[in-house]
Amino acid sequence: MNTSKENIYFDNNATTQIDERVLDAMLPFLTVNFANASSTHHLGLKANEGVKNARVQVADLICAEENEIIFTSGSTESINIALKGVAENYSAKGKHIVTVSTEHYAVLGTCKYLESKGYEITYLTVNSFGLIDLNELKNVLRADTILVCVMYANNEIGVIQPVKEIAQLAHDAGALYMCDSTQAVGKIEIDVDALGIDLLCMSGHKMYAPKGVGALYVRQHMNHIKLTALTHGGGHEKGLRSGTLNVPSIVAFGKACEISQQEMKKDGERISTLRNELENELLKIEGTFVNGKTDNRIYNTTNICFRGRDANVMIGRMKNIAVSNGSACTGAIVEPSHVLVSIGLSDDDAFASIRFSLGKFNTENEVKSVVKIISELTQLKY
Ligand code: PLP
Repeated sequence: MNTSKENIYFDNNATTQIDERVLDAMLPFLTVNFANASSTHHLGLKANEGVKNARVQVADLICAEENEIIFTSGSTESINIALKGVAENYSAKGKHIVTVSTEHYAVLGTCKYLESKGYEITYLTVNSFGLIDLNELKNVLRADTILVCVMYANNEIGVIQPVKEIAQLAHDAGALYMCDSTQAVGKIEIDVDALGIDLLCMSGHKMYAPKGVGALYVRQHMNHIKLTALTHGGGHEKGLRSGTLNVPSIVAFGKACEISQQEMKKDGERISTLRNELENELLKIEGTFVNGKTDNRIYNTTNICFRGRDANVMIGRMKNIAVSNGSACTGAIVEPSHVLVSIGLSDDDAFASIRFSLGKFNTENEVKSVVKIISELTQLKY
């Protein structure tokens, strides 16, 4: 399945195209089994069965138990529930949280809010590869640290943090470990117990399910983590997230988890071959280099600086190719990506950078086309 003959979609870290099998799984829950999953009649029970099944599929993917999965609208909501919930429930131990300057704005924005409520946040720095320094983490942990929040794979440069070691250090300090795994779930195997993850967020639309559905993993075995609801009402999702369940999307998300569990190895090998081919060819263009680490990186992502060029202008000229640039729009102001600046890029190099994030529907011909188009573009003087 391709988006269309004309379009080449290399922006899978932003969102993915729905898998047809996922769509097939969700459709009956929009048409026939449309009942409220909380209703006690036979149709409600059918809808509830769909949700139950999905909860198992999601839990299985990360080696968790079903009662540890809270369905949400996606990672942003999951992150808010996790960070604000830990802050509220563990403040007797302290009000200190550790995170990283290169986290997604869902984490950074929530931390900023918590700062306004009297919490102290330490923002770890990263090296030129985007990796945190475990010694720095060890040194900033304190008796009043309640949470360490470090992402799995970075959405812009793909670098993978040493999750297991981070969890160990957090636990040694008596703190919980929250891992934003939005870009890792469904791409690489995750075992929350083996890694020591206490809280984990995921978004369906990053793994071929629709937008507006996701989950929060909340450890209940070995440590019964307490959180607080942000939305109050009928007490859905163990009272943590009231509101009628979005059954079709939850079913879709469950199906996407099942598919990725079965196919991630095969897909991963193919996607990484395509990504490497793309990267190797683009690096032949004068003035290009990879931002971040080339090993220990999520296999679908490459972020390349075309020094001296304006990525926005390039993207505008690529027309039918969907990629992402190294800048963030905050209202009317265009700022360089905070991730690229954190790994030491100048503003000019950040504005000259393009993120290519591949997915399972991409093909070798698409890679060839993109290489050809970009090679021709960079021959032009502008
Ligand atoms: N965390 C990471 C690493 C992400 O890449 C994203 C989305 O791009 C999010 C969190 C937020 O996800 P959502 O927009 O689905 O809530």
